[in-house]
Amino acid sequence: MSTTTDRAADLQRRLERVRHRIAAAALGRTEPELIVVTKYFPASDVALLAGLGVRDVGENKAQEAEAKAAELAGSDLRWHFIGQLQTNKAKSVVRYASAVHSVDRPGLVAALGKAMAAENRRRTEAGEPERAPVDCYLQLDLRAGEDLEPGRGGARPADMLELAAAVSADPGLSLAGLMAVAPLGGDPAEAFGRLQELSADLTARYPQAAGISAGMSQDLEAAVAHGATHLRIGSDVLGPRPAVG
Ligand SMILES: *Cc1c(COP(=O)(O)O)cnc(C)c1O
Repeated sequence: MSTTTDRAADLQRRLERVRHRIAAAALGRTEPELIVVTKYFPASDVALLAGLGVRDVGENKAQEAEAKAAELAGSDLRWHFIGQLQTNKAKSVVRYASAVHSVDRPGLVAALGKAMAAENRRRTEAGEPERAPVDCYLQLDLRAGEDLEPGRGGARPADMLELAAAVSADPGLSLAGLMAVAPLGGDPAEAFGRLQELSADLTARYPQAAGISAGMSQDLEAAVAHGATHLRIGSDVLGPRPAVG
C-alpha cells in the first residue's frame, strides 16, 4: 500500500516538473497538450496518472495498449497510438484509440478506414452510438536524403499530400496533422523547424489538420519552440523504462 502511495508521489513530482518545463517553453503561448507515454509501465501507473489529472496517454505496441485500455475501460482516458502499426492490428486499435499518430502509408489508411466501418457496424448492431472518427497524424520521416528506405520512421515528406488525401476521403478518419520523431544524432530544432514548414504546406490545403505531434522527454523545448500542439512524454514522467524481459 505504501508503495502505491510512493509511486503516486513520484509520478506527481515528475509530472509537475514536466508541466513546468512545458509552461516555461511556451512562455505565454498556447501550451501544447501533454500526452503521457506509458509504454512498458503497468496499467496501475496509468490509473495513478489519471488520478493526477492526466487525460491523454500514449502507447506504442498494439497488444500492450489493448490490454491496458481493457483494464482501464470506463475511465475517461484518451488513448493515443504512437508506434508502428501493422494493418492486422487496425481492428483492435479502433476499439479504444481516439488517435493514431503513426499513419505512414496508404495501406494503413485503408486498413484503419475499413476497421472503423466494421467497428461502427458492430456498435450499431449492439445498439451503441457510433464512435468519433479516429484522429490521424501523418508520421513523417525527417531524415535528410532522397533514398531513404521507406516504412521505418514514417512517410517521406514528398508523399505527405497523397496520404493526406487518402485520410481526408475516409469518413471514419479525421486528418489531425503531422507527427515526427527527431532523427537520432541530428539537431531536433532543425528537424522540428522542417516539420513546421511541412505543416504549413498541409494546412494550406487542409486547414483543420493543424496538429503537430512532436517532442519527447529530451527535446520538448525545441518542439514547443517550433509550434508543437501535442507532446509525447514518457520517461521524464514515468522514470527510466523497466528492462524488457
Ligand atoms: C517512447 C516514445 C515517446 C516518449 O519518449 P520519452 O523519451 O520516453 O519521452 C514519444 N514518441 C514515441 C513515438 C515513442 O515511441
